[in-house]
This record gives sequence, structure tokens and C-alpha cells, in this order.
Amino acid sequence: MIIPNVNVLSDGQLKEVTDILTAYGCKVMVITGAERCVYAIVGDERNDDMVTKIEGLPYINRVDRIQSPHKLMDIRSSLATHRVKMGGIVLGTEPFFCAGPCTIDPKNPNLTIETAHAVKEAGAHALRGGVWKPRTNPYSYQGDAKALLVLMEASRQTGLPVDTEVMDEEHLRLAIEAGVHCIQVGARNALNYSLLRQIGEAIAGRDVCVLLKRGMHLGSVQEFISAAEYIAQLGNPNVILCPRGTQPTLDGYRNHPDESIVPLLKERTWAPVVVDPSHSVGKAAYVPAASLAAIAYGADGLCIECNVHPGKGIGDDPKQAVTPEVLRRIISQTRELWRIARGA
Ligand code: PEP
Ligand code: MN
Repeated sequence: MIIPNVNVLSDGQLKEVTDILTAYGCKVMVITGAERCVYAIVGDERNDDMVTKIEGLPYINRVDRIQSPHKLMDIRSSLATHRVKMGGIVLGTEPFFCAGPCTIDPKNPNLTIETAHAVKEAGAHALRGGVWKPRTNPYSYQGDAKALLVLMEASRQTGLPVDTEVMDEEHLRLAIEAGVHCIQVGARNALNYSLLRQIGEAIAGRDVCVLLKRGMHLGSVQEFISAAEYIAQLGNPNVILCPRGTQPTLDGYRNHPDESIVPLLKERTWAPVVVDPSHSVGKAAYVPAASLAAIAYGADGLCIECNVHPGKGIGDDPKQAVTPEVLRRIISQTRELWRIARGA
């Protein structure tokens, strides 16, 4: 990783750096941060001659050689001071809340619109809502691109940024074109490296972030962070890690709650962690306790399924969506716990 003395290299400087790297069979990847750019060396960066030449350039501060399978997302990376922003929140500075229905019913747009206003009122900073759904049962409702219009209308009316899952390149294209602020990678696609790369390419240079769910089959800490690296290495490091419970389940829960992974992630990566307690426990009654646990473990925020009328929702909502009243209570209690836990 090349760290310049300046916030951004001029075209001439970038060309000089690129020419040196190319001579040694490497390439440069520009990583644009909020305030400054850093320049990742793509290829084998162990060549001392190459590194010495780069470090000899007057506008270069240093070259960091981190031996890590996820060198951009690594806690030792020069990106560690990078902060992900969403819904007016700098993640990590105060608790972040994303909430909304599991699935947007395009036949009942008012339910989503009403829910969007209610989650905002309850204190959420972002709205979630599934347009396309990964369903275990191929005969279940699979989603509908028309729901994207409903999601964007809800965003327009409330001013909330929106998060939705994409499962293929066409979904991705439609979501980016519509102006979706946060692209969700679901637990089933956590290791779909082609999709991760496509997302990385699509969001490079855009003010879009990614909510990356943890693979449901006990994805390891390193596997999880490396999946984020797939996206970040293409130029936009705004990836939020989202543990959402793993399989096999804890008898009685939908999955095995895994918020306890947060401190392990925090030791190895600077990426913000937003826990999804809804898919983890799978039942509305258990979501408040799981939310508190996640914040106690050091999560930077929560992504919660919420519906004004859970029973009228589709997908997971009848079982696991909390009402806006419960969401409001979760937000106030987790804020208090955050203050206690972080001494803030
Ligand atoms: C969802 O967010 O509605 C969803 C399907 O999540 P996951 O990929 O975690 O199962
Ligand atoms: Mn769901």
C-alpha cells in the first residue's frame, strides 16, 4: 500500500508510480477515502527494488507491506482511519439503526411507505427492504423489480437511505441505476466471489456502501473479512460487516446467534459491524434481547426487520418483524447500553 504525502496524486505523479509498478509486473489500485486517497499495489509487492523506487519519490511518505489475506480491510491497513457514513451517521461514532420490512410487497406499496415513515419516526437512520428475495423454497415469492420503485419512493418521502439485497448482475444494475444507497449481499451469496467482484466494480467511485452478511454456514472470521476485501480491492472500501446467525441452529432459534463474533472482527478489521438480530433469532419476541447483546459485544449498529403490520407483510415479517413501538424501545435501550459500554 502506497501512502503519499499529499491527499491525492496528480495525474503525472500517478503515471510515474504506475510506470515503476508496471516494470515489476504490478498494477496500482486507487482507493478513494473521505479525505485522501491511498494506492494499493496489486501483485507481488515484496520486491525491494520496486518498493525502494516508490519510496524514493518526493511525494511518497511510505509503502506499507502488510502480509495479510485482506490487506485493505486489515486493522493495520492505512485505511484503518477510513470511516463509513450512512444516513448522516459516521459508523462507529454513535449507534446506527437500519430497519424495515423483510420483503416489499409491490401489490401493497402503502405498507412499505407507512413502515418507512414509522421506522424513521422510531429513530432509524436507514430503511431496509427486500426487492429480490433468496428463498429456500423455489415456489415462494421471489421478489419483483416493481418493488424497487416502492423502495425508492419510500426513500424520497422519508429522506432515508435504502438498503436492498441483490443476487445477480441485473439486480445490481437496476439497484445502482435507481439510486439505492446500500447494496446488501445476503448470507447465501457471502462467498459468491463473482457477485462480490461485480459489486466492487459497480460501486467504485460511487457514494454507495455494501452491507455484507456473514456466510450462514459458520463462515470464519478470515473468510468474512476476505469477502469484504473482494469488494474493497476494486476501489470502494465502504463495506459494513453483518453477522446474521449461523447454521446449525440453536434449537428454538432460526439460526445460531453469532453477535459474539464482533470482538474478534474488531481485532482484525477496521470495518464497521452492524448485526442483524432478526435473521439470527428469527422470532420478533427474541429480537430485543439479541439487539442488546449485539451492542454489548461492540456492534456499531443493528439491521432489524420491522413492519407496521407484521402479519400483513410477506417473507419473514409475520414471524420476525418487530413493530415500530418495539423498534423505538430497542433503539432507546441500545443507545443507553452503548453509552455505558463505550463510556460515551
Ligand atoms: C434478508 O435480509 O431479508 C435476508 C434474506 O437475509 P439473509 O441473507 O441474512 O438470510
Ligand atoms: Mn428477511
